[in-house]
Amino acid sequence: MSNPNWKRVVIKVGSALISPNQQGCSSHYLLSIAQFIVRCRANGTQVVLVSSGSVAAGAHLFPEQEKSDIAVKKAMAAAGQTEMIATWDRLFDFPSAQMLLTHADLRDRERYVSIRETIFSLLDNNILPIVNENDTVTTDKLKVGDNDNLSAMVASAAEADALIICSDIDGLYDKNPHEHDDATLLKTVDHIDESVYAMAGGAVKGGVGTGGMRTKIEAAEKAVSHGIDTYIINGFTELSFNMLLNGENPGTHFKPHAKPMQENVHWMRHTSNAQGEVIVEGDFDASLDSNADQLTSSEIVDVKGEFSVGDTILVRKEDGTKLVKAKSNYSSCLLNFIANQENEEFANEFEEKTGPIISDQHIANLEKE
Ligand code: GLU
Repeated sequence: MSNPNWKRVVIKVGSALISPNQQGCSSHYLLSIAQFIVRCRANGTQVVLVSSGSVAAGAHLFPEQEKSDIAVKKAMAAAGQTEMIATWDRLFDFPSAQMLLTHADLRDRERYVSIRETIFSLLDNNILPIVNENDTVTTDKLKVGDNDNLSAMVASAAEADALIICSDIDGLYDKNPHEHDDATLLKTVDHIDESVYAMAGGAVKGGVGTGGMRTKIEAAEKAVSHGIDTYIINGFTELSFNMLLNGENPGTHFKPHAKPMQENVHWMRHTSNAQGEVIVEGDFDASLDSNADQLTSSEIVDVKGEFSVGDTILVRKEDGTKLVKAKSNYSSCLLNFIANQENEEFANEFEEKTGPIISDQHIANLEKE
């Protein structure tokens, strides 16, 4: 355990801890979390808090409204967010800052870099960043959707050493502990694969939050591939936080990859979203480092979706095998035009003038995984 050596941690706190009965916010469970944050900072560890709870905290202000109505939910989030931030703020004698993000912000490289700069600047000035999804402006296309995955994206952006995800159970069990008496807690997970997802079960919808164990595993997968120690712990008991501070593992520890992805590759792989697909012939070799040079229009079998210059695309084989995610230097319209050219010489000359189809920046090789 490397706890005393953590330079920076991200802690994710869910709605059930903040607004246990959806009657505004309660500091009942937050006190031990706040204490943990204070002690981390006293030990020289920088902390970023990812806090849910705006929707849950705002719910009681809309007694007559249909809670599942999207417009009502957004209004609940807007009203609850101020109360949630105020509740946290009261627990600290140092300043905190509100950061509201959407997936559209995180997947745009320029905005992502700006988010990183803001986080670092806040931390350098001993201010606690409190991050939540900007629920009032999101649509299905724009949102991350759950704060587990958001916390992993934030942990990567913040170059954190550890991500601590607070849950309502002690960690990941080999089967659902609510249904099986003999379910066993996994103390350590070395590698996240389908068997780990199978233990987590399906997504849990409803209740006061959005995620379930599955989104926590997705978050862990994102974080460990960036070299971040990830823990799922029981956020309802003070013991979990005391154990963490003592360098002990109170829940499930997901071990970080020995060879973490570079920041820009990780962003492409785990944060950026493909806006379209380019289907290539079988002999495109994704394992080569010069992917940008080798994708030419003669390899392209089909172009799917609509994308603009600079958007992320997924390059895959006809059989569905995913090869790389990369930034496209061509729009889907132009790529369709050039890929459908009968005149190969024209196509070659066009590409020579216009440049490589995919940019050599931030290419994430999906085949090597
Ligand atoms: N952003 C949502 C909120 O503040 C929570 C999302 C989640 O539960 O993961 O209510």
